[in-house]
Amino acid sequence: MVTKRYLVAANWKMNGSREQADVLVRTLVDAGIAAINADIALCPASPYLAQVAQALAGTPLALGGQNLHMDDCGAHTGEVSGAMLKDVGCRYVIVGHSERRCGGETDVDVAQRVAAALRNGLIPILCVGESAQERDAGKWCEVLERQLGSVVDHCGIAAFGELVLAYEPVWAIGTGNTATPEQAQEAHAAIGRYLMEAGLEAAHLPRVLYGGSVNAANAQGLFAMPAIDGALVGGASLVAQEFVAICRAAAISAGQ
Ligand code: PEP
Repeated sequence: MVTKRYLVAANWKMNGSREQADVLVRTLVDAGIAAINADIALCPASPYLAQVAQALAGTPLALGGQNLHMDDCGAHTGEVSGAMLKDVGCRYVIVGHSERRCGGETDVDVAQRVAAALRNGLIPILCVGESAQERDAGKWCEVLERQLGSVVDHCGIAAFGELVLAYEPVWAIGTGNTATPEQAQEAHAAIGRYLMEAGLEAAHLPRVLYGGSVNAANAQGLFAMPAIDGALVGGASLVAQEFVAICRAAAISAGQ
């Protein structure tokens, strides 16, 4: 039996301070997170990347950024490039989070950021997901295909063999309204089908994380679904015991 290796990524968003970041990482490490059999990544806000990188040195935990610019350097005041994220030790970068898409980031912007991440040796965690209105209108699949299609057009289908996807229905993010395991499974399976129809070989299908109000209580049910390969965790990732419990649920689901 082939067991899958889950990825659990913490999106700290625009939260924390130098002290809180230190305490959170220390608490996670003291709780034994480094021994959990899953890939685990922490994505702090940019000002704390370097100190979290230092705190994670020597552990198997990875570091991730929350966004990047499409250019590698230049006159883009306030932006952070893929080259910089790589330079401070990031392995991952979240791209196309709905909180950014809602702020005006277009499908084309997102595709360009995916290209920038790959060009700089980072693994994009590409977020896709429909709004409540789009789901109510029966358009969730169409929306996912449009968001994915833009990346296929700009980066080529092979790029999907080098990234991670996160299905994050907007209505589930930060609301406590987690998608049911069945709803998430249906969307994840549709994503896999779409990518294969677009020419991706089954062996190159990316991991698809679920994101949207994941917590210690609901993680196990989500991870039991065959097409769910991990989680992108917002609010619960700021609470050490919750995040460790989610990571342990991933390891249990993998049979380890
Ligand atoms: C997120 O922001 O990516 C997220 C999934 O948030 P939450 O877990 O708080 O819903």
